[in-house]
Amino acid sequence: MIAPDLPLIDLHRHLEGSIRVATILDLGHQHHVNLPADTVDNLRPFIVASDSKPNVMAFLMPCIQWMVGVLGDTTACHRITYEAVEDAHREGLDYLELRFSPYFMAQPHQLDVAAVVEAVVDGAQQASRDFGLKTNLIGIISRTYGAEAGWRELEALLTKRDDLVALDLAGDEINFPAELFVEHFRRAREAGWQITIHAGEGVNTHSVWQAIQLLGATRIGHGINVIEDHALMNYFVKHRIGLEISLTSNLQTSVVPSYAAHPLRKFVDEGLLVSINSDDPVMSGIDLRYEYEVAAPAAGLSSADLRRVQENALTMAYLSENEKQHLRDRALHR
Ligand SMILES: [Zn+2]
Repeated sequence: MIAPDLPLIDLHRHLEGSIRVATILDLGHQHHVNLPADTVDNLRPFIVASDSKPNVMAFLMPCIQWMVGVLGDTTACHRITYEAVEDAHREGLDYLELRFSPYFMAQPHQLDVAAVVEAVVDGAQQASRDFGLKTNLIGIISRTYGAEAGWRELEALLTKRDDLVALDLAGDEINFPAELFVEHFRRAREAGWQITIHAGEGVNTHSVWQAIQLLGATRIGHGINVIEDHALMNYFVKHRIGLEISLTSNLQTSVVPSYAAHPLRKFVDEGLLVSINSDDPVMSGIDLRYEYEVAAPAAGLSSADLRRVQENALTMAYLSENEKQHLRDRALHR
C-alpha cells in the first residue's frame, strides 16, 4: 500500500502525543509524578485510546495531562523529542514535520517556555543527525490559554525562528476563534514562517475560512467540515490549500463515525491536495503505516489513490524544491 519509490512523509504529528509509554513511566519516577499505574503494561491502557471518545477534549483528557505531566525539566523535553524522531525513523519515514506547544509542555512544572523550545530544537536536530531523518519543527500556539499567553508562547518560539518552519494554532476552536490571533500570525509570517492551522475539526466551516483569510494558512489540519461547503472546497482546489487528514484520530474523537464515513474519499475525488498523517501516534495506538495500510483502504482509497496522497504530502511539505527533489531521488534509488 505504501509506494516504496516515493518518500513516506508525516506532516501532522504532535510531539506531546508521541511520548513512549515506557518513557512516561521512567520520567514519572524521576520527577516524582503520581501516575495511575507503575508498570508499562498497566500504564498503557491509560495512555493509548481503546475506543472512541465523544469529542476532541474528551479524547485528550486525562491522558495528555499524564504525558506532559512528566516533563519535569528541559532534559525530559529533549529526551521525548529525540525519541519521537527515532521512532519515526524506525517506522520508515523519510521526512517528518513534528509540532509542539511549548507553553503547554512548560505548564505542569512551570518550566521556562523558551528553554523548552531550545530543548526540543536540540533534541530534534541531534536525532535527525543520528538517524538520518530529515525533520522540521512546527510551533503551536494553544488557543485554549487565550491571546495573552499566545504572545508569550510566540515570543518563546521566535527565539528559535530559524530552526522552525511554521506556526500552528490548536486547542479549543469554539471558544477561542481565529480573530483573537490575527496579530500573532501576522508576526509569524513576517518572521518567514509558513502557516498551518487546526480548523474544521467538528466546528463549522467559518473557522476554516478564518484560518485562511485572517491567519494566512496555506494548510489546514483536519478540516473535515470542508466537505459541507462547496465554495470552500473549490477554494481549496483553486488555491492549492493543503489538507492534513488523520483518519484514526478523527474516528477516536467522534468527528466521523467510521473510516468508511470519512470524507477523505470525496476530497480525493474532488481533487483536493490531501495528505494522510498520524496526529498523536502513541495516544491513538497507531503509526503512519497503519493509516496507509488499514485506515485508508477502510476509507475507500485504492493503491492509486494512496500513491497520489503520498505525492501530495511531498507537494505540501514545508521544504524547498531542492529538498523535495532530494527526497524523491533517494526514494527512487533505494
Ligand atoms: Zn493535530
